[in-house]
Amino acid sequence: MTLRRNAMDPLVAKIIYIVGYWLANFAIRARHIAARQRERVRTNKNTRLDNSLFLTVGVGGFVVPLLYVFTPLLSFADYSSPLWIGVTGAVLLVVGDWVFWKAHKDLGRNWSPILEIREGHTLITTGIYAHIRHPMYSSLWLLVIAQAMLLPNWVAGMSGLVPFAILYFQRVAKEERMMKEEFGSEYEQYLKRTGRVLPKLGSN
Ligand code: SAH
Repeated sequence: MTLRRNAMDPLVAKIIYIVGYWLANFAIRARHIAARQRERVRTNKNTRLDNSLFLTVGVGGFVVPLLYVFTPLLSFADYSSPLWIGVTGAVLLVVGDWVFWKAHKDLGRNWSPILEIREGHTLITTGIYAHIRHPMYSSLWLLVIAQAMLLPNWVAGMSGLVPFAILYFQRVAKEERMMKEEFGSEYEQYLKRTGRVLPKLGSN
């Protein structure tokens, strides 16, 4: 494909996306996955639907982009995109990676890829969690939006955003119900002073 002036260079965008995704999901998350193996689970609220959606998010965020980057299979869905969209996507990816790192750091051993409560689980309300209840989901929103902006291909661009949106909307209320059952009024108070994925405006 010949590029217009001020069009995004798909090769550069692909490299930025793969590095940003790898940083979040492998470099940042790896030691949390290892630490989780040592924890004992007390309550597990994950359903088959949660597991399937989680898998779909992984395939859409990683496997489909890899097919797009390394094979011509998805070239039928390519389009040309202006440079500013790619630059905005790269900025969102960097911010998303930072929020992802910070949320893992602050949540510590309470992190889990699924809905569960551990032995000795504590409610975290400090660090980034003092402002937002679901910063990890905020970061995943940023990463899937960055994917859509960085990969100028209808399939590879949207394959993260669509499954993550479904996962998020069917999971977040369930997670809050589980936390309320576990932590009672402490969580109710926490709900009042924080926003779900963005800081609550005007609360101090
Ligand atoms: N939804 C949060 C956490 C994602 S990890 C976020 O987006 O940042 C999912 C696990 O985190 C859930 O199984 C739940 O047990 C745990 N969790 C969610 N919020 C928590 C909090 N404030 N303190 C401790 N654990 C929490």
